Amino acid sequence: MCTTYSGRFYAMQRFNLSSLVFVETKGSGFDEGALNAITAARKLSGPVTAVVAGSEADVTAKAVAKIDGVSKVIIAKDAVYDHALPETNASLLKALQEKESATHIFAPHSAAGKNIMPRLAALLDSQQISDIIAVEGDDTFVRPVYAGNAIATVKTSDPIKVVTVRTTSFPAAVASDTASASEEAAPAIEATPLSKWLKEDVTKSDRPDLASAKRVVSGGRAVKSAEGFKIIYQLADKIGAGVGASRAAVDAGYCDNSLQVGQTGRIVAPELYIAIGISGAIQHLAGMKESKVIVAINKDADAPIFQIADYGLVGDLFTTIPELIEKI
Ligand code: FAD
Repeated sequence: MCTTYSGRFYAMQRFNLSSLVFVETKGSGFDEGALNAITAARKLSGPVTAVVAGSEADVTAKAVAKIDGVSKVIIAKDAVYDHALPETNASLLKALQEKESATHIFAPHSAAGKNIMPRLAALLDSQQISDIIAVEGDDTFVRPVYAGNAIATVKTSDPIKVVTVRTTSFPAAVASDTASASEEAAPAIEATPLSKWLKEDVTKSDRPDLASAKRVVSGGRAVKSAEGFKIIYQLADKIGAGVGASRAAVDAGYCDNSLQVGQTGRIVAPELYIAIGISGAIQHLAGMKESKVIVAINKDADAPIFQIADYGLVGDLFTTIPELIEKI
């Protein structure tokens, strides 16, 4: 009897699935990771509502409303949500979850997502499910663990699922002229900012962004200096690639730390990844091993990077790369 009742309740819950997706605003634009999070949310059967918050949220919302699969955009036009301040955005999402009776809340596994979603999960008394790479059902998700060396399938019994999405594992949802989600203003909520945004120092580059680049050229400790790292930029520019680096190269000050690829850096999955003078530590592989084609250039034929490389070149980077650049 009891089983039947809970079975019915569960069926009812399934029927009422609905998702909120947090869209990080950047001025009047938005972080494109939301497009991948929307695709993840669409794996479930319920409607997908995008939450757009910030001082220019009304402008951003117009673009978000055109994304395929979004049925409604909730607009919280208020400067308290700018710069993805975690406390205010978490409070907003909690209020919207209650208002919409949302069963799932998704965000990209980005700096903002990783900052806001654990707070939201705590407010909702749920356990966050982080960095998912697949949706197997409304309560079951797949995520890498141990720096990507094992894959865990996790099933949650929490009524509200708070989920961050590995953006490279889901294709980006696309905007279309025919799509036109409804727009609705968010109710005013009491959102107390506990933190204050002061400023950001962003490295400006004309090269493709690491996260979205189709090709990435990365340099490791072997480049020996900031001067030596220039060879990585030269090859990248020759083939229109984004530039990445190992942590050893970043820690040694050869390049900016925004270039770090790996477990504690950016996760990338380009069509082509060229690792130059990088040994292939598991923490580096965690950030790039999903790349479609991996090329390794290393003077040590036994370097672990060759185990996952599709193409390998054993040689000194200071002679092979100039030759490669010349031939391209
Ligand atoms: P090395 O391991 O020193 O390798 C240099 C390679 O260059 C060697 O294989 C060598 O044969 C080759 N080489 C030398 N000279 C030449 C030459 N002239 N031409 C061609 N090849 C040459 N690392 C990351 O990259 N990303 C992370 O996010 C990250 N997170 C970490 C998190 C934790 C908690 C920890 C403990 C470590 C993390 N690391 C990370 C560090 C990681 O363990 C490695 O130390 C680092 O990736 C090594 O960088 P590397 O391959 O450039 O240097």
